Amino acid sequence: MAEGHAVARWGDALRQLVGERVTVIEVPPRWRERAENIGGALLTRVETHGKHLVLHFSNDWVVHTHAMQYGSWQIGPIGQELRKEARFARLRLITERHEVVFFHGPVMEVLSIDELSTHERFQSLGPDLLHDDFSVSRVLDAMHRQGTREIGDAVLDQRIVSGIGNIYKSEGLFLAGIHPRRPAAEVTASELDTFFAELIPLMQDGRFKYGMTVTLPPDLQLEPWMRNWVYRRRGHPCFVCATPIEMFRQGEFQRTTYFCPHCQPIA
Ligand SMILES: [Zn+2]
Repeated sequence: MAEGHAVARWGDALRQLVGERVTVIEVPPRWRERAENIGGALLTRVETHGKHLVLHFSNDWVVHTHAMQYGSWQIGPIGQELRKEARFARLRLITERHEVVFFHGPVMEVLSIDELSTHERFQSLGPDLLHDDFSVSRVLDAMHRQGTREIGDAVLDQRIVSGIGNIYKSEGLFLAGIHPRRPAAEVTASELDTFFAELIPLMQDGRFKYGMTVTLPPDLQLEPWMRNWVYRRRGHPCFVCATPIEMFRQGEFQRTTYFCPHCQPIA
């Protein structure tokens, strides 16, 4: 699943191509006419914001992508062996030295820079917790406008803070001792500070690692499948207090939320 750390990692890899000229661009038929503008252009910038990734080209065209839960990027030398069948590619770019393929991503749009600047979903994103200038205070203000909405739902709202997905949601709330059903508007500045202080290093660490999302420290990873504090551990004993981990579904999209009822008291 593509949470913000995976998108940041793909962004890091794609930045190797900045300054290279696009010799081939292949996109689904709907975008072909627009993509002709990108053939021959230089890649000038790679922007990541939460789970969105934007490639900027020298003639003010961009490719905007969102991997949702299934998309992934493969970046390598020209002629690389593809990890997936070519028919699953939503975008294929060849530059002077590299070949890039975006597989399965449900969002892949070729836009002018003006269209991106008025793109409702992209422009309404909250601060990205992996950006250097991230500030908790903006998130706190937004949380305090959420009324009775539960914190476990609110932290997934990319308009409030962008980059957190379902695994890091449960893990971060556990590490901060915050019950996922607490009203977002009641969470204190120091609780939110703790939440981000726990989560950001974990996600920065995950940015440099491929494979499964691991949040447990090495001394608790007694078996290969032991990766997380609470995520997918329903009924198993909490690593801190041995209380069985609980799970419920939360928010408009009924996302799974895992928590320890003892370490994360409701009041
Ligand atoms: Zn516990």
